[in-house]
Amino acid sequence: MRYLVLSDIHGNLEALDAVLRAAAAGVDDCLVLGDVVGYGAAPNEVINRVRALRPRVLIRGNHDKVAAGLEMPESFNPAALRAAQWTSDTLTPENRTWLQELPPGPAIVDDLVEICHGTPADEDEYLFGPRDARSAFRMARRPVCLFGHTHVPACYRQQPGEPDTIMVRELDGESVHEVEVNPDERYLINPGAVGQPRDGDERAAYAIYDVDRRTILLARVDYPVGLAQARIRAAGLPDVLARRLALGR
Ligand code: ZN
Repeated sequence: MRYLVLSDIHGNLEALDAVLRAAAAGVDDCLVLGDVVGYGAAPNEVINRVRALRPRVLIRGNHDKVAAGLEMPESFNPAALRAAQWTSDTLTPENRTWLQELPPGPAIVDDLVEICHGTPADEDEYLFGPRDARSAFRMARRPVCLFGHTHVPACYRQQPGEPDTIMVRELDGESVHEVEVNPDERYLINPGAVGQPRDGDERAAYAIYDVDRRTILLARVDYPVGLAQARIRAAGLPDVLARRLALGR
C-alpha cells in the first residue's frame, strides 16, 4: 500500500499534473495536507483533480478556509489577500461548498501516521526548526506526523532523549530522499509544497508513504513553471506570485 502525499498545491495545476504524472502509477491512494487553493490561478481545475483522486484522508489549510469564506484573512500579506479574494470570486458554487466542508486536521491515517496542516495542535501554526518540533511532538498521536504550511521540506526525528533534526533541503541537487521509519523513533515530516516551493528549489515537491516498507520518500519533479506563471498573469493576479514560482521562494 502506497500513499501519494500532497500538500500546499495552491491552485497550481501545472505542478499538480507533473506530480501526478511522476507518481500516480506507483501509488494506491492519496493524502492531502491542505491549502489546495490560494496563490495559483487554477483553483477550480485543481479542486476537480483532487476530488477525482478521492483522497483517503483530506484536510483543509488556512488558505482553503479564507477562500471558502470561513475565516477573515487577517494575517495575509497584500498579494495573498488579493489571491484569496480572486479565488473566492472564481470558485464554482460546487467547489466553494466542497472547500467549506473540508475537515480541519489533525487526522489519523493509520497506526503509524497522522496528518495536519500546520502542527498537530493548531492548523494555522508554523513549524520551523527543532524548538517548534519539540512542542509538536508533545501533541502528536502517531509515530509519524506529516505536516505542511511552511512549504519547506523537512524531517524532524525524535530519538529517545533529545530531538535530532534533519533538514532535507540541505541535500542540494538530489531529487529523492527516503526516510526509513525506525520503530523506536518519532518523526515530523513535511513533504514540501506541490504548488509554491519556498526552499529555493522551484521544482514541485511531494512525498510517498509506503505502508509495508515503513518509508516516507520525499521527491521533487520539474514542471512547466512558465505556464503556471502565464496563468497567474492572465488572471491579473499580483506579479510577485508569478515571479516567486521561478525562484522557489
Ligand atoms: Zn500553504
